[in-house]
Amino acid sequence: MPQILVDKERCKGCERCVAACPQEILGMSREMNSKGYFVAQVVEPKRCIGCRLCCITCPDVALDMNIHGAMYHYFSY
Ligand code: SF4
Ligand code: SF4
Repeated sequence: MPQILVDKERCKGCERCVAACPQEILGMSREMNSKGYFVAQVVEPKRCIGCRLCCITCPDVALDMNIHGAMYHYFSY
């Protein structure tokens, strides 16, 4: 099962990933990071289909994907 990981310190709470997810399984946490932003979270991880739209959409490269133990860091160059 794909697993989306949120880098809380990179997230700026823009909610673009929430809007991008076709499964509507991303939401905003009540947890704040050190910059004062409410961060994204995966609300229903079991329903993730691994489409990567959230990772591609995030302007701050705050989302990574783990598929069967392999980590994918999109645009982290
Ligand atoms: S990979 Fe696709 S289904 Fe999974 S959380 Fe991201 S946008 Fe949603
Ligand atoms: S798109 Fe990126 S920066 Fe914006 S809320 Fe989602 S994880 Fe945070």
